[in-house]
Amino acid sequence: MQGKTCLNCGAPIQGRIDKKFCDDQCRNTYNYQLYADGSNLIRRINHALKKNRNILASLVKEGDEMAKVPKEKLTQEGYQFKYSTHTYETKKGSIYTYCYDYGFLPLESGWMLIVKVKE
Ligand SMILES: [Zn+2]
Repeated sequence: MQGKTCLNCGAPIQGRIDKKFCDDQCRNTYNYQLYADGSNLIRRINHALKKNRNILASLVKEGDEMAKVPKEKLTQEGYQFKYSTHTYETKKGSIYTYCYDYGFLPLESGWMLIVKVKE
């Protein structure tokens, strides 16, 4: 006889065919982890976005609105290029990538222009 196993602990389940867990505790643990994993992902992405933003902000001097840095500088600081909040394309076709109020524009020869959004 082929029995079903608990989604949480993997133990064989006795009883009703539609049961997915061996008991309430296993069901609660499973559902909690499902929810926790989802919110962890959101938290991780939010954290990465804020870190990206802070890296960009740290490269623009106080009182300046932009800075030119080598792309490796961003990588060294731990910048994650896969995370951004939005992009902006100028009339000339340059695409700025933003993390909140700071962004960058890739320049030639591995340089980056870091910009601060004007308020
Ligand atoms: Zn179980």
